Amino acid sequence: MSSRLESDPAKATTPLLDALQAELAERASLGLLRQRRVLHGMQGVHVEVDGQRLLSFCSNDYLGLAAHPALISAMQDCAAAAGAGTGASHLVTGHQAAHEELEHTLQTFMGMPGILLFTTGYMANLGIITALCGREDAIFADKLNHASLNDAALLSRAEFKRYPHNDLASLEHMLAQSQARRKLVVADAVFSMDGDLAPVPELLALCDRYDAYLLLDDAHGFGVLGANGRGVLEHFALDSPRIIYMATLGKAAGAAGAFVAGPRILTDYLMQAARPYIYTTASPAPVAAAAMAGVKFIQQDYDRRAHLHGLIDRFRQACQLQRWQLMPSQTAIQPVVIGSNDEALQVSKRLLEKGILVPAIRPPTVPKGSARLRISLSATHSHDDIQQLISHLQMLEAA
Ligand SMILES: *Cc1c(COP(=O)(O)O)cnc(C)c1O
Repeated sequence: MSSRLESDPAKATTPLLDALQAELAERASLGLLRQRRVLHGMQGVHVEVDGQRLLSFCSNDYLGLAAHPALISAMQDCAAAAGAGTGASHLVTGHQAAHEELEHTLQTFMGMPGILLFTTGYMANLGIITALCGREDAIFADKLNHASLNDAALLSRAEFKRYPHNDLASLEHMLAQSQARRKLVVADAVFSMDGDLAPVPELLALCDRYDAYLLLDDAHGFGVLGANGRGVLEHFALDSPRIIYMATLGKAAGAAGAFVAGPRILTDYLMQAARPYIYTTASPAPVAAAAMAGVKFIQQDYDRRAHLHGLIDRFRQACQLQRWQLMPSQTAIQPVVIGSNDEALQVSKRLLEKGILVPAIRPPTVPKGSARLRISLSATHSHDDIQQLISHLQMLEAA
């Protein structure tokens, strides 16, 4: 074998690396290779990306809190008092006062006795599903659910059945057939590429009828839906011990992290059994402090949410399209379906030339033939920003 001195690192390869290179080349030839852009400065509606100043419609920072001075100073103050790192998992010595305070705040805000923080939404979903379901159980999942929910279902080893998007009849059929010990219905509350809502009251009724439980992932609804920003359960005025509620703190709340809410016994159990809770270093306390400041805005700043909903209404009324289709959505996610991959990419590129950042979303993220622009609105957009976007969209559609 060649020694370290003789080998040329540029030529060093293995069958694995060859296979990976072929895979990358294949993706590139299909136009599916993803690129990162470097964002300088802060997240917001006006961003500097790869040196270009852009009007952005592509973050999940729905309330414009990610760069808010109140969140920044909450983080700074907490770092000064509690340090940068936690140095341990929550169950060892990593659970700091900021985490505890955030859980109490969420308990009061959500009106739910059990709250458990997770480091990310991805980990929360892995933790909840693998702690609650095993080989004897069955998971019933909407086809358009977030990847983290699907990964969790596979990891749990439960029977994993997917029903067509929002198709209650299919779901009912599956539930009626199931002999599983425990049945868990899993749905995004707001679907991330469509912006539409799950029919939560009907899902809950099916869970009641077939003795199943309902896990709702409200990553895009928390802070946005409901008169008080409590999310999808407030929107539909629902409350049930069969519901396991999960939301993230990195979208509308402007920070990072996630939480599970439900009966106290549920979160007590998850604390003991959810592996992504147990076997990871607790997230830095300043992150919890920033999330806490974000939740305070959600609780108290009604104008911010009202402005966002005003923008959503305005966009839907004013964006009249002929060939392309604005999807039915009452949320901050307002997708415009274009159809072909090439045209969607072209439109996104033309918008970028005009200084407007809107991502094109293509299969396999969305079904074939439904490539789209995923427009997301934020409370820090102005009516003028929205008008600019609409004018360019209409011009490009007519071109
Ligand atoms: C963003 C998102 C997640 C993951 O949350 P992170 O905190 O970013 O890991 C989970 N579910 C849905 C529906 C999401 O949109």
